[in-house]
Amino acid sequence: MPGRGVGQPLKAEAHPCNATGVHGLLEDAEPSIDWDALTFSFKKTDRMYLATCGQDDEWQSGQMQDFTDLSMSPAAGVLNYGQGLFEGMKAQHAADGCIVLFRPEMNATRMQEGARRLGMPPVPERLFLDAVHTTVRENARWVPPIGKGALYVRPLLMGSGPILGVAPAPEYTFLVYVSPVGPYFKGGIRPISLKISDEFHRAAPGGSGGVKAIGNYAPGMIPSKMAKGEGYAEVIYLDAVHHRYVEEVGAANFFCVKDGVISTPELTGTILPGVTRASVIEIAGSRGFEVREESIDVEYALDADECFCAGTAAVVASIGSIEHDGRVAEYSGGEVGPITMELYKALTAIQQRRAPDDFGWTVVVE
Ligand SMILES: *Cc1c(COP(=O)(O)O)cnc(C)c1O
Repeated sequence: MPGRGVGQPLKAEAHPCNATGVHGLLEDAEPSIDWDALTFSFKKTDRMYLATCGQDDEWQSGQMQDFTDLSMSPAAGVLNYGQGLFEGMKAQHAADGCIVLFRPEMNATRMQEGARRLGMPPVPERLFLDAVHTTVRENARWVPPIGKGALYVRPLLMGSGPILGVAPAPEYTFLVYVSPVGPYFKGGIRPISLKISDEFHRAAPGGSGGVKAIGNYAPGMIPSKMAKGEGYAEVIYLDAVHHRYVEEVGAANFFCVKDGVISTPELTGTILPGVTRASVIEIAGSRGFEVREESIDVEYALDADECFCAGTAAVVASIGSIEHDGRVAEYSGGEVGPITMELYKALTAIQQRRAPDDFGWTVVVE
């Protein structure tokens, strides 16, 4: 292993997590990786989890193995008909030295709901959580030092058995891999510029927009790439029926603030129920804000005082401007708005355990 990279060596002071020997973190060689240069991109790590489920719909407990490519039939359901779901969550070093997850049971539940929608056997919550904990633990040396990023955790569920007709596959694979990541949007806390997509929609009523179906994401690549080519960070999608109500920002949930009231689109089935979204709503409520889950007319959003988006990857990201039909709305004079900043700080303080976790949202990986 060439050198120790530029990561700061972790201190060996006794704290609760070191005491229980968090995963030999101190002994393990630190990967030779420039933690300050981390971006949101895939980096291969040491270990992965894999479980399978046959036609009896019974999940057997899976196994840890070295990270490797998969082998599957060219007729696999996921390759031919997109029968697949993913999840996304983060493990990070908290201020007390522990490696913590944020509300992982919500990801377990969401994947079960998605499995039902896509005709796959739901992964039991216990199995999901064990898989996530074990995969993080066995890749602990890839968790960036505090403040440098996170270990992104990617559970995947797919129809891996062969099927020729359009129908549920005869076998399923559930796996978990991880990758260290830095910030999702280049430029960090600086407010991002967005553009309303006038040509494309993300999801339609009765479709699969409310679950993390893999097939929902490829159609967003070209719209996103086009917007980036014009200098925007992402697109905002409006609803597919009226092309009037704000739905989502790429793969993050949308919020706006007007006269101190916080609004976010209600969950009608076309919007992904984000864990970050739910957490922001609760945090804001606990801090005395009025929070409305309702249809947000694009004109209302353009006239708002602050806008931001929320998601595991993006955390809370301030929106500096939105372009729509030749009009550009700017927010908070290009700065991060005060309420956006307050919510960002409150959320990240809980996630990194710099503030009391009154909600009981963080879970230690041991
Ligand atoms: C994953 C995702 C989100 C954010 O969900 P979190 O649970 O907060 O990460 C929002 N919108 C879409 C379309 C997503 O795929």
